[in-house]
Amino acid sequence: MTETISMPHPQLAAIAVEKAYRKDKHKVPVLRGIDVEVNKGEFLSIVGQSGSGKSTLMHLFGLLDTPDVGEIHLEGQQIDDLPEHARDQIRNRVFGFIFQFYHLLPELNLLENVLSPLMIRYSTWEYWKKKKQFKQDAMEIIEKVGLSHRIKHRPAELSGGEMQRAAIARALIAKPQILLADEPTGNLDSSTGKEIMELLTNLNEQEQLTIIMVTHDDLIASQAHRTVRLREGQFELLGKHQSASVPA
Ligand code: ADP
Ligand code: MG
Repeated sequence: MTETISMPHPQLAAIAVEKAYRKDKHKVPVLRGIDVEVNKGEFLSIVGQSGSGKSTLMHLFGLLDTPDVGEIHLEGQQIDDLPEHARDQIRNRVFGFIFQFYHLLPELNLLENVLSPLMIRYSTWEYWKKKKQFKQDAMEIIEKVGLSHRIKHRPAELSGGEMQRAAIARALIAKPQILLADEPTGNLDSSTGKEIMELLTNLNEQEQLTIIMVTHDDLIASQAHRTVRLREGQFELLGKHQSASVPA
């Protein structure tokens, strides 16, 4: 028989994924057969022109949307077809998200923004019981992103770089296994963008956090372990960067 030693599964995989949107009566294909495997601790960047389907793919990875064809696997298990409730759980517990425009809540200060995913996850009673621990966790993460001096500031009182750091802290509070970063430096000047990339690289190296980052900037992309380019709905393989070591 062909029973072989079972290979460890990639942490996350897209298998023959296709996605189209409907415009008027036409189907507009966006993703036309995407295959990619991401290992734990890897930092993958996805590049492609505006409109090439980068965000669409991130939404499929993070279970914010479902593929028309193909599958998304987490640790070898198909996850895109799970019932809504299971998808919600995986989305909230496995994935962290950061975006180009931060999406912080304007009425909340930095500390409250970072705590907001926990306020949503737990009942009022549970949250109240664990509040001290949560606050301590939040303060530690805020320190890690270098914003301890800003905890009472609202988003409007923060710079772009500080808002993105706050968004990263908010993503980390739920202890995600995989960070999905959609154009995280897209709205920042190049030196601030560099600082955010340093923070992401540190999180990847020190905490083994898997990062999948979308960017249209090749220089930013080259700081990841590996880059794939989306072109006409498919991946064009670019090979590994020589400077970075890739986890097995
Ligand atoms: P990117 O992030 O690479 O700029 P997107 O994934 O946002 O690209 O979009 C890919 C294509 O799909 C674009 O042509 C866009 O207009 C279209 N598109 C994205 N989301 C939707 C949607 N919800 N409904 C219809 N068309 C969409
Ligand atoms: Mg996009």
